[in-house]
Amino acid sequence: MGSKMDLKQHIRTVPDFPKQGINFYDITTLLANPAAFQHAVEQLKSKVAGKQIDAIVAIESRGFIFGAALAHALGKSFVIVRKPGKLPYKKVSEEYNLEYGKDRLEIHEDAIGRGQKVLIIDDVLATGGTALAAAKLVEKLGGVVEAFAFLIELDKLGGRDKLNKYEVHSVLNY
Ligand code: AMP
Repeated sequence: MGSKMDLKQHIRTVPDFPKQGINFYDITTLLANPAAFQHAVEQLKSKVAGKQIDAIVAIESRGFIFGAALAHALGKSFVIVRKPGKLPYKKVSEEYNLEYGKDRLEIHEDAIGRGQKVLIIDDVLATGGTALAAAKLVEKLGGVVEAFAFLIELDKLGGRDKLNKYEVHSVLNY
């Protein structure tokens, strides 16, 4: 699995999904290719090599795929941030703005300990609203966001600016 592999060749772009004007970056084609999936996880791993982290926090739902693989590869604990109404136990929640309307993310109140250092993972960084909400949840529990890592960053949408108080890594830029 040489470093010559071009991961972009394994990501399918679907115009006008889920609505007109959105170019959707579809990672199912990458996941279906074992060498590409392994390479993607290796690349994420190398972005955070040497960082002191206690846990990987992943955002529903495609963040779970890469987050779980990375947590397994690094031997770190794995924590999930979910859409409203999915988590069974006591939780804290954070509202954030979408292009239109609002949404909410939740985390179990005991998912992260005070002072724990975490890495937050998702597949795509677009406007950064989702990632910022996840960071606020971690901080509400007393955790420390060491960095974010994304497989894909959509440069023009300004996510990096929204996350400017944090360290942000991405494997592929569009
Ligand atoms: P945002 O809050 O705008 O950064 O959006 C990030 C979330 O929406 C991530 O969980 C992504 O999986 C998803 N997302 C946003 N835009 C796209 C896109 N163009 N292609 C695929 N997923 C996207």
